[in-house]
Amino acid sequence: MPQFTHLTPPVDGTPLTRKQGQLVVPDDPIIPFIEGDGTGPDIWRASVRVFDAAVQRAFGNARRLVWFEVLAGEKAKDLTGEWLPNDTLEAVRSFKIAIKGPLTTPVGGGIRSLNVTLRQVLDLYACVRPVRYFAGTPTPVTHPERMDVVIFRENTEDVYSGIEFAKGTPQAEKLIEFLSREMGKRLPADSGIGIKPMSETASKRLVRMAIKYAIEHKRPTVTLMHKGNIMKFTEGAFRDWGYEVAKAEFRDAIVTEDEVYEGTSKEGKVVINDRIADSIFQQILTRTADYSVFATPNLNGDYLSDACAAQVGGLGMAPGANIGDDIAFFEATHGTAPKYAGKDVINPSSVILSGVMMLEHLGWHEAARLITNGIAQSIRKKTVTYDLARQMDGATELKTSQFADAIIANM
Ligand code: NAP
Repeated sequence: MPQFTHLTPPVDGTPLTRKQGQLVVPDDPIIPFIEGDGTGPDIWRASVRVFDAAVQRAFGNARRLVWFEVLAGEKAKDLTGEWLPNDTLEAVRSFKIAIKGPLTTPVGGGIRSLNVTLRQVLDLYACVRPVRYFAGTPTPVTHPERMDVVIFRENTEDVYSGIEFAKGTPQAEKLIEFLSREMGKRLPADSGIGIKPMSETASKRLVRMAIKYAIEHKRPTVTLMHKGNIMKFTEGAFRDWGYEVAKAEFRDAIVTEDEVYEGTSKEGKVVINDRIADSIFQQILTRTADYSVFATPNLNGDYLSDACAAQVGGLGMAPGANIGDDIAFFEATHGTAPKYAGKDVINPSSVILSGVMMLEHLGWHEAARLITNGIAQSIRKKTVTYDLARQMDGATELKTSQFADAIIANM
């Protein structure tokens, strides 16, 4: 157990460990949590009751989650003077798992997004977003039920690498001069400059995780989403590296779409294909059911995750996880919605469904299923929070806490 300056770890509970790379899950795992800013505390109070109720109902007293509050965001700043104390990073590293509500991104002052920092510092290289439809959720499309995808978005590089220089700075001027002198590439002198690095290592480990997931969960396809027709040596290379890792490491379990066209059977295999990013935004609307698992570079995945979520009823419902080789961090995908803070009205489903992903990660599938059922039933009965109620005919609008009660009653 590490020594903490500001945190008091629970007196009971057992940390997750790894044995030959495999996660070892005790019956009383310690789970660090960050309740989050703005509406975070409202959401967390509701969510934790749902998690504990599901585990109790699934396993009686044989298993339980041992919660450990760790600090980030405004609460951390108030209590410790830091937005992201080292204690928090140490706790997540030690316990190999965490769950969090939304965090405010401090604007200006040289402070980077806490979410981006967490992903980079803990090397959580895949952002995983399952998107599926819950019957009865109001949506803008005719056949939302055709959407059932899991998006694996590269989390550490691409235009999010943070290598940017403002117009007119010595760094930008130096780069413009260098590109002209050494590379023969001329840019307007008043350009801001951003760098888009994409490496073979990071691309391959992301695609590897997506293919492993597809094989384990018997998913039919993995689609490499890229803009390689324009950005040949970054996004085009992502596609090439994706096929390389598929063929080199999963030859018996996969077949490429080209091989299927040439006559190879796809029976029992995961089909690997690739699509240009802009066409995916059409196809996910027009041929929704053709897609199952996506592997994407960082920016494409950012856009695609929100577009898919909107198609099945919006961001208040979309769960997410940031996963590396050692640590899995589950999180709300929406922001802090500060205007609703403390009002007990916000939809907690994003954090609750992230908790479902967490329970599946622990292998506690019975508890995960109870929560999914509870949410599905609550929506079917039209007993929902304001965001869904305002789009449904004849719905009963519930507070955040009452929605948690409904989920528990409907498990
Ligand atoms: P936001 O907090 O996601 O809220 C925008 C709007 O989305 C809300 O006003 C609300 O719409 C709706 N909404 C969001 N979450 C909802 C939920 N759980 N239930 C129901 N409706 C929900 O986005 P923002 O206002 O742009 O960002 C606020 C802060 O959050 C910023 O500091 C931003 O940086 C941060 N942020 C954090 C994360 C994260 O931690 N992962 C992600 C994004 C943004 P209506 O008003 O129409 O009801």
